Amino acid sequence: MTTTSSLTFLPVLERIAEEVERAPGHGRPADYIPALAARDPRSFGMAVAELDGTVYGVGEWRQPFSAQSITKVFTLALDLAREGDELWEHVGREPSGNPFNSLVQLEYENGIPRNPFINAGALVVTDRLQTRTGDAAGELLAFLRAESGNPSLGFDKEVAASESAHGDRNAALAHFMASYGNIDSDVPVLLDQYFRQCSIAASCADLALATGFLARHGIRADGNRLLTRSQAKQVNAVMLTCGTYDAAGDFAYRVGLPGKSGVGGGIIAVVPGRCTLCVWSPGLDERGNSVAGVAALDRFTTLTGLSVF
Ligand code: GLU
Repeated sequence: MTTTSSLTFLPVLERIAEEVERAPGHGRPADYIPALAARDPRSFGMAVAELDGTVYGVGEWRQPFSAQSITKVFTLALDLAREGDELWEHVGREPSGNPFNSLVQLEYENGIPRNPFINAGALVVTDRLQTRTGDAAGELLAFLRAESGNPSLGFDKEVAASESAHGDRNAALAHFMASYGNIDSDVPVLLDQYFRQCSIAASCADLALATGFLARHGIRADGNRLLTRSQAKQVNAVMLTCGTYDAAGDFAYRVGLPGKSGVGGGIIAVVPGRCTLCVWSPGLDERGNSVAGVAALDRFTTLTGLSVF
């Protein structure tokens, strides 16, 4: 982390934190595994990372939380960087309008999931990264450590074990797609990789920094290119249209930025060419998005006038 550029948006973040503190409802933490259910829904943190790696925030912005589906953005980018457009023969890029763990579209679309951010699509992406690297979760963790500058990032074994113990739906999705020839790994190996991927614990600071390559049009923290400018645009576009479960339309309407949420209560967002954000508050709405997180991003774009529109 450097502190060379000015902390432009800090007053805005402080104002948002005060508003969130006063807000009446914060939703309920995810309760499908005990490790997530135990979180206080009133916890709140928000960080901004500037393009040069300066990062700052308010509230619990350095508190690690379960990244969950936010990691799907990074596996998508890592796989796209390796295999390019061939990926899109195995996963679509249309909003699903169905819950994140839905099976319903897979049968009449021949085992090709709608997009990389529903669980079925994320399993395909992780499978493809796994067959190319032999350790998709390890590849992801190394990337997040490098981009965040935080070597202590790691898997949360308790969360991964809990995901596995409650993993029947993901196992069903993986086996179903394997029956169409759209999964190459052994399903148990893939599920282990996917559950470890979801279990990564990281803070708002870590995830805002790790998302920076999407604001820098594909350029990593060390100046090397991960994605072409066009691929960075593609990932941002899929985030905008598919990144917040079956509420992506409402998120685009309210926030106007590419974003990706996870059931741990985190949301990352990108202002291309300007900065990245990560907000965390564990209380979720009925679609699985953080109540205070969406409200905070909504206020950020309203107060700053920044959006992609
Ligand atoms: N580990 C979760 C699952 O696959 C991810 C949920 C999410 O953050 O959307 O069920």
